[in-house]
Amino acid sequence: MTVAGEPTTTEVADGVFAYVQPDGSWWINNTGFLVADDGVVSIDTCATERRTRRYAAAIAAVTDVAVRTIVVTHHHGDHTNGNCLFPGATILAHERCREVVANSPIGFGDAIWGGIDWGDLTVVAPQLTFTGRVDVHVGDVVVELHALDGPAHTVGDVVAWIPQRSVLFAGDLVFNGGTPFVPMGSIPGSLAALEQIRALAPATIVPGHGPVCGVEVLDGIAEYLRWVQRLAEEGRAGGLTPLEVARSADLGPFAELLDPERLAGNLHRAYAELDGAPPGAPIDLLAAFGDMLELNGGGPLPCCV
Ligand SMILES: [Zn+2]
Repeated sequence: MTVAGEPTTTEVADGVFAYVQPDGSWWINNTGFLVADDGVVSIDTCATERRTRRYAAAIAAVTDVAVRTIVVTHHHGDHTNGNCLFPGATILAHERCREVVANSPIGFGDAIWGGIDWGDLTVVAPQLTFTGRVDVHVGDVVVELHALDGPAHTVGDVVAWIPQRSVLFAGDLVFNGGTPFVPMGSIPGSLAALEQIRALAPATIVPGHGPVCGVEVLDGIAEYLRWVQRLAEEGRAGGLTPLEVARSADLGPFAELLDPERLAGNLHRAYAELDGAPPGAPIDLLAAFGDMLELNGGGPLPCCV
C-alpha cells in the first residue's frame, strides 16, 4: 500500500490558502480556504473525520476567524464527507449536487476500496444551491462561484474563482498527476469545462487532486479525454467491451498518471455517449467500477485514506 505524505498548507495568494494532501490518489483530495476578518470560506472538506479534523486544525493555525461558508465543488465524498464538522457554516453547491450528496451514505466506497476508517461522520447536504453564478463577499474580496451548465466531472460541478487573487479552485475538473475520472459526468462536458477554466486565465489553479498548478496542465487533461473518446470509437467499432479496450490500450504518456485503472470507467462513459446517452445520464456504475477492479488486478483499489 502506498503511504500518503503529509498535507501542506500554502498561501498561494494574499489570504488564499491551498491545502494539498499527497499523493492525490483515490479519496485524497485537496481543499483550500480564503481568510478575511469577517469570515473564512472553505472550498470543500475531506473524506474522513481524521483528515477533516486535521484540515480544520490547519485553518485554525492560520486564523481564529470561523469558517462561515463551505463551497462544495461536487458531490463526491472525498470533498463532502467532512461537512458535518463545520456546524456553523452555510454550505453552497450546484443545484444538481445537493440531492446526490443527500442520498450518498458515508461509507459508499467500502466495497471498492476495502475497509476505510471514516470516523464519526454524518451526511450534511448543502443548504444553499444555485445555477449560473453566485458571489460570496468576504472582507473586500469576492469569491465568484461558477456553476457549470452541463455535467462534466459530475452532474453538478462548481469552480470557485477569486479574480482579485487570480486563484481558481477547480475541484475535480482538474487532476494534476492523476487520471481524469468522468463516469458520473460527461466527456464533452469536461472538455468544455477546461475551456471555461482557460477563459478565466487564472495565475494559480488549486486542483481537486495533486499539486497546485497553472493552466499548463489543461492541455494534458484534454488530450487524455480525447484519447479515451478515440479508444471507445475504435473499440466499439471492433466489437470490444470497455474492459477489453482498456486491457489492450497503450497508455503512452498517460501511464505516469495515478490510478490508471480509471480508464475502464471512463470508457464506460465514452461508450454510453457513443450510444447517444445525454451528458451525465446514469450508467451502470457497478459495472464500471467492476471493470476498474478487474483492470487493477482484482481486489480493492489502492487507497491510503
Ligand atoms: Zn470527484
